[in-house]
Amino acid sequence: MTLVLGGTPVSRGILIAPAVVLQRDRLDVREVRIPPEAVAGEVSRYEKALRETHKQLRAIRKRIPSQTPDEIAAFIDAHLLMLADKALSDVPVKTITEQHCNAEWALQLQRDGLVAVFDAMDDPYLRTRRDDVDYVVHKILQNLLNISGNQYKDPDGRLASCILITDDISAEEVMTFHGMGVAGLITEQGGAHSHAAILARSLGIPVVAGAHWARRYLRDGDTIVLDGLRGLILASPSEVELDYFRRRQSEIVDYVRRLDVVRSAPALSMDGCTIRLMANVELPEDIQAAEEVNAEGIGLYRTEILYLQQTSVPEEEFQYLIYKDAARILNGKPLTIRTLDLGGDKCLRDNEEAQANKCNPALGLRAVRLSLREQDAFAHQLRAILRVSAEGPVRLMLPMLTSLEELFRIKTLLDEQRQILRARGVPFDEHMQVGGMIEVPAAAIIADQFARHLDFLSIGTNDLVQYTLAVDRMDEDVDYLYNPLHPSVLRLLKMTIDAGRKAGIPVAMCGEIAGDTRFTRLLLGLGLREFSMYPATLLEVKDVIAHSDIAHLEQRLQVLDQLATAEEVLSFVASLNAES
Ligand code: PEP
Ligand code: MG
Repeated sequence: MTLVLGGTPVSRGILIAPAVVLQRDRLDVREVRIPPEAVAGEVSRYEKALRETHKQLRAIRKRIPSQTPDEIAAFIDAHLLMLADKALSDVPVKTITEQHCNAEWALQLQRDGLVAVFDAMDDPYLRTRRDDVDYVVHKILQNLLNISGNQYKDPDGRLASCILITDDISAEEVMTFHGMGVAGLITEQGGAHSHAAILARSLGIPVVAGAHWARRYLRDGDTIVLDGLRGLILASPSEVELDYFRRRQSEIVDYVRRLDVVRSAPALSMDGCTIRLMANVELPEDIQAAEEVNAEGIGLYRTEILYLQQTSVPEEEFQYLIYKDAARILNGKPLTIRTLDLGGDKCLRDNEEAQANKCNPALGLRAVRLSLREQDAFAHQLRAILRVSAEGPVRLMLPMLTSLEELFRIKTLLDEQRQILRARGVPFDEHMQVGGMIEVPAAAIIADQFARHLDFLSIGTNDLVQYTLAVDRMDEDVDYLYNPLHPSVLRLLKMTIDAGRKAGIPVAMCGEIAGDTRFTRLLLGLGLREFSMYPATLLEVKDVIAHSDIAHLEQRLQVLDQLATAEEVLSFVASLNAES
C-alpha cells in the first residue's frame, strides 16, 4: 500500500528514486576484535580522541560571549568533568585491554551501561543527564571515527541518484550531498526560505522539507516519488501512481522545451519596455548555467560558499582567481559580487556552536556587521573584488546595510584598499560601481538616502520579508506567516523602487520572488526593471514579461495602497496574472 506524507514544497521537480535514510544522530558503531599486539595502539587511539574532545569542549567554552547566562558555561563545565571522569577515561580502556575490542565498541558498551543507570532513576532531572552522557560520547565517537559534525563519506556510492531523507540540512551539506550525486532531499525540519533551500533550488535538486517523522516511516531502498512543487512524498507507490507521475515528468520536459523559443529573444514587454534579466549564482559552475539561459549578467554572486567550503578564511589571491574566472566566462557582461553574508544560518564550521548559543542569530553579527568586525578578512575580499574589476564590468554589492554610518565605514575601508593596490601597482577600475542590498526595513525606509551614496540598489526580499514581518525565515513554525504579499512588504518595495528612480540609479531585485512567475506582473507594475534569479527560472519570467503590458500593469497597481490585507493582495495579484 502507498504511504503518503506531506511537507513544505521547497524546490520543484518530480523524482522517482530509491530512498536512503540518514540517521546521523546515531553513529554506526560495530564490534571489531583486535589482536593482542594491537591493544596498546587501540588504547592510545582512544586516549587521543579524549584529548581531542577535551580541546574542542574547551574551545567552545572559550567562545561563549561574556553576557551569556552562567548556566550555559556550567553545562560545558559539566561535560568537561564527565570527560575526565573514570567512567569515560578508564572503563573503556579496561574494556579494550580485557576484551580485545575496538575503542568505539568499548565506549558504546560503557555508554549503554551509564544510560541504563540514568534511565532507571526516579528523579526526572537526573534522568535528563543521560542526554549529557550521549552528547559527550557522541563527541568522542566523532573524534574516533575522524568525522566532524557535518562531513560525510559515501565509499560505496549508495547516495548516487537517491532521495536522501534526513533531519535537517545546512547549505554546506547541500553542497556535499550534491557532490555525491544525491538526486532529491526530504528533511523532517526546515522550510522554503533558508539558504540551504535557496541553494538546492539553484542546483535543481527537488526538495520537500518539514516532513515530520519521515525517517520513522520511510525505509532504505523504498521507492519514493518526490513532488517538490506540491510538497508530496509517496512511498512504495502503485503502478497507476507511478504512471501518473511519469506523465507529469514528461509534461515538465515538454514545458521546458517550449520555453526554449524565448532563450535568445530580448526580455521585452508587449508594450516595448526592456527588462534586465540577470542571474543569481553561488558556485563558479552556476555561471555556465546563467550563460545557457542568456542572462544579461550576474545580479548576485553569493560568496559565502567560498568560505563555507574552506577550513580557513580564503585569502585575496584565492578569491581573486575565482572571481577572475567568472569574469572570463561572462566575457564583458556585468558581474555583481556580493561581499560576505556570513552569520545567521550561514556560519563557518568552527563558529557553528558559538552561533547556536545566540538567542537570535538573524539579528546578530551577520553580513556587513561581521565584515566590519573582521576587517582583515574583509580587506582581502575587497581587494580581490577591486582587482577583478580590471577584467570586466564588476559591481560590488553590500549585504544587509542598515545605516549610512555602516556604508561610510565600508567606503573608507574600500578607499584604503584602493590605496594599497595603487601602491602595489595593481590595476583596478577606479569607477567600479558600489551598490547596496535593501533587505532590512530600516534601509528601505531611508532608501532615498542610500540612493545618494550608492550606484545601484538591489532588493533582497528573502530577508526583507523576514525582518519586516518579524518571521524567522528558518523557523517552520511561523512559515505560514512568511508572506511577501503582506501590504507592508509591498510598500517597502515601492518606496525603494521609487527612491532609486528619483535618484536616477537602477534598482534590481535578487530575492527569490524575482524568479517566481506568480510575482512577475506585480513587480513590473511596481516599477521594477531589473530582476535577478537562479538561472532555471529565467526563461519562465521572460515568457511572462513577453505577455505583459507594463503601462497597463502600472495603471492597475494604483489601487495597491487600498489593499489592507495579504489576502486582498493575493486575489488582486491572481486577477493580474489571469489577464491575457
Ligand atoms: C535576500 O535576502 O533576498 C537575498 C538575496 O540574500 P540571501 O538570501 O543570501 O540572504
Ligand atoms: Mg539576504
